[in-house]
Amino acid sequence: MLRLYDTVHGEVRDLATRDPGRLSMYVCGPTVYDLPHLGHGRFTLVWDVARRWFTFRGLDVHFVSNITDIDDKIISRAQREGVRESEVVATYEEQWWAAMAALGVARPDDTPHATAYVAQMVALIETFLVDDVAYVTSDGVYFDTSRVADYGLLAGQALDSLRAGARVESNEEKRSALDFALWKFAKPGEPIWPASFGDGRPGWHTECVVMSLGLLGDGFDLHCGGLDLKFPHHENERAQAMAAGRAFAQHWGHNGFVLVEGEKMSKSLGNFTSLTDLLSRTDARAYRLLVVRSHYRSPIEVSAATIADAERALARLDAFARRFATPDVGEDLVRATDHSFVGAAQELVDRVGALLDDDLNTPLAVAEIFDAVSTANAWADQGASDEAAELARAVAVLLGALGLKIFSGDETLDDETASLVRDRDAARSQGNWAEADRLRDELMSRGWVVEDSANGTRIRR
Ligand SMILES: [Zn+2]
Repeated sequence: MLRLYDTVHGEVRDLATRDPGRLSMYVCGPTVYDLPHLGHGRFTLVWDVARRWFTFRGLDVHFVSNITDIDDKIISRAQREGVRESEVVATYEEQWWAAMAALGVARPDDTPHATAYVAQMVALIETFLVDDVAYVTSDGVYFDTSRVADYGLLAGQALDSLRAGARVESNEEKRSALDFALWKFAKPGEPIWPASFGDGRPGWHTECVVMSLGLLGDGFDLHCGGLDLKFPHHENERAQAMAAGRAFAQHWGHNGFVLVEGEKMSKSLGNFTSLTDLLSRTDARAYRLLVVRSHYRSPIEVSAATIADAERALARLDAFARRFATPDVGEDLVRATDHSFVGAAQELVDRVGALLDDDLNTPLAVAEIFDAVSTANAWADQGASDEAAELARAVAVLLGALGLKIFSGDETLDDETASLVRDRDAARSQGNWAEADRLRDELMSRGWVVEDSANGTRIRR
């Protein structure tokens, strides 16, 4: 059984799913108004690893992550730069997906955009007004948090102590400082949507309620995000679902912060100003390795030094991949049922599996994998090449299950070799296996390791 820490209960619990064999999972996505930052890189990697591991274990995962494409920050950037909001969104959403592709974060099954769900948000707010769960002020519609009995469940605090800790509110029309905007009435020059209670635009907290319930259904399994979203964003999402009488997420997961020492943020000291900056200067896999070497609930330090350390570890893994010509695994989601092992390799898969099943203990799992790298190298040195190769294959598959591809690097092929590869692909596509085998032997005699992949013949020294 997969187990995961649940923020509401404050403990590691069984990840029981609503539908047997299926897992519905929602991760709050970015507001696209600037380059993605290092924290974006971490939360997407953490929940990508989780999704990949749950898939490896046989669950059919439905992964939804939204794009917030209407927000104060988008509007103010558009006004500052004298462009339309849609241009700001297009520019930074493109940067977002470029960064995700570079990180090897698998595309969500659904990526709902807030602006496509405004009509549903308006309908939800209308029901809140009818039920007096929401009220109208001069600048918008607010949610009355006192109407949800267990408001504060995710924050882990009672309403009174939350209220005492809330900022002194400038808006005197609000019934409580904890109440939040569901809808902001139109201001000149801002994007506007029609609503019976007054034209305007949605607040941030309503979109995820409408999109998660709309795409995953009532009582979906797992809602995730960074720890910074726990309160008030997730609390406010949950409050709306409760007020609407809908069963919301059954399990809440939150990942820890990224630490960057303030004065060391400058490029001149070799640190990273954005995720895009980091990815332009380093092997993207280093950030994934850095993330999985820490527990997802702990803070991590992302700096030139910690990334360089991860790059050195990665170089060791790539050298290992070259030595054993390990299979290319990790681009697509990996399923355990597609790989079987014997002996020490299966024991490694079992040990690593038990660690990851228990609240995604990636640091101990990765330590086990690095131990196996040492063991396989030692066995190969001693001549036990079959056992070593089997263990090496398990290492590649387990790292691939975490989305970490190890490989020997792309080779530049001379014309003659490239032509042999092309001829072999042609022979295979025609079902001419004898010729394909002959060409494989020819390549091997020239010192190449030959592999068959979905994209055809792959070779390396
Ligand atoms: Zn959200």
